[in-house]
Amino acid sequence: MNNPRKLALSLLEDFGITNPQDVDVIDIAYALNIPVRHNQLKGCEGRITHAKNQSMITLNNSEKFITRQRFTIAHEIGHYLMHRKEPINHNDDISSLSWFNNKNNLEILKQESEANEFASELLLPTDQFLICIESQYFSPELIRSVSDRFKVSRTSVIHRFVEHGNHPICVFYTRNNKVHYWRKSEFFKYYIKNITKLPPPGDSVCAEYFNENTIYPNEESKQEISKSTWLEVNNEYANDIFYEFCLVHSSVNLAISVIWED
Ligand SMILES: [Zn+2]
Repeated sequence: MNNPRKLALSLLEDFGITNPQDVDVIDIAYALNIPVRHNQLKGCEGRITHAKNQSMITLNNSEKFITRQRFTIAHEIGHYLMHRKEPINHNDDISSLSWFNNKNNLEILKQESEANEFASELLLPTDQFLICIESQYFSPELIRSVSDRFKVSRTSVIHRFVEHGNHPICVFYTRNNKVHYWRKSEFFKYYIKNITKLPPPGDSVCAEYFNENTIYPNEESKQEISKSTWLEVNNEYANDIFYEFCLVHSSVNLAISVIWED
């Protein structure tokens, strides 16, 4: 049974790394004897292939964001440490790297989620994350500041906040104008509308992106919506104020919406 988070922490310890933000994950790959090369990949961001005594990581050379490259390499290192004995070569696309995996094979699903947990702990250990967010409410600025400090993607910081934040949020993944998946904090007490596989609610910030291509600048990224936009609520509360922060990955037509109340 793999314990991805423990494994990531023991790797950091083995390498004497106390500040993961200073780490070049390519160096870790090389130290583990895994060459990393860039190539043109179709429909995937990275992959790891295993021969008998050698593995190799390939990254898509069209990926420009350093945070995504770091996460992909860390994810592939996770596959190397936990799954290389199994005869599966991993081709990782936006879904396997984003926690809303739509692959049908349960064994692959499990491996992708383990590799994501490993990568996320390697790049941003939970104890350091908890210090960053201690007594802080959710805000787009908080997500950006942790992301910049640890050089991890905003998406993965949002996921950590769902797991460990002390302010309840709910996150929706909408791709090609269809809601694929949502995930909420343990203490998020509202019912979510049944919108999976449907377009996002017409009055959501997410719909503004898909319908009008609106992407708000950082200083306007906290947008006011109604409680009833994404949630199932009684009429008397329908117009209560809620907020939405919509993070757009236009290259893959993906929008990640976080909703919360103050
Ligand atoms: Zn993977």
